[in-house]
Amino acid sequence: MELLKEAILTRGKVLGEDILKVDTFLNHQIDCELTIEMGKEFAKYFGDKGITRVLTLEVSGIPAAFTTALELGVPMVYAKKIESKNLSEDVYTADVHSFTKGKAYNIRVDKRFIEKGDRVLIIDDFLAKGQALGGLIDLCKQAGAEVGGLGIVIEKAFQNGRDRYVEEGYDIYSLARIEKFEDGRVVFK
Ligand code: 5GP
Repeated sequence: MELLKEAILTRGKVLGEDILKVDTFLNHQIDCELTIEMGKEFAKYFGDKGITRVLTLEVSGIPAAFTTALELGVPMVYAKKIESKNLSEDVYTADVHSFTKGKAYNIRVDKRFIEKGDRVLIIDDFLAKGQALGGLIDLCKQAGAEVGGLGIVIEKAFQNGRDRYVEEGYDIYSLARIEKFEDGRVVFK
């Protein structure tokens, strides 16, 4: 997606060897128009896949999942990372190892919001080593729901997170795929 690549090049910042900081439009401040375009792009790709729900992980997956669900005309659900007294006990849970924080955390979703018979499109902001996707897929499996696709805003292809999902037969689509960071610059695939 050219608009997104342009935003990455002009507003993103490479930190160290393997982190891209995009808090200017994706991870802190949100570029709403760009996020609407992301939703349209995901909906174009996954529009004929019979998606019944869009699932993401709080917080940074929410904007793109929201615009995608809006385009597809289906509900959007986000798995929670933060313990809340509001959340019912009746939840599916999974463990995820965080790439950026270097520690494991628990994600959960109320059983009413992913159901058997659902065809779920999973959306996330980044794909690095694929741990977050693994946790979200796990929640869908527990619910007896099918995963209808995996949509990623920015994939760092050099971290090979996609490989096992391709091997397992998932349909995975990234809006921008980064081949490498070179002298602090982003090189796309
Ligand atoms: P994975 O689970 O695929 O290893 O990492 C994906 C998760 O880690 C994403 O949900 C995202 O929040 C975070 N993440 C991984 N790499 C980056 C990065 O380069 N920049 C930012 N901002 N977040 C990242």
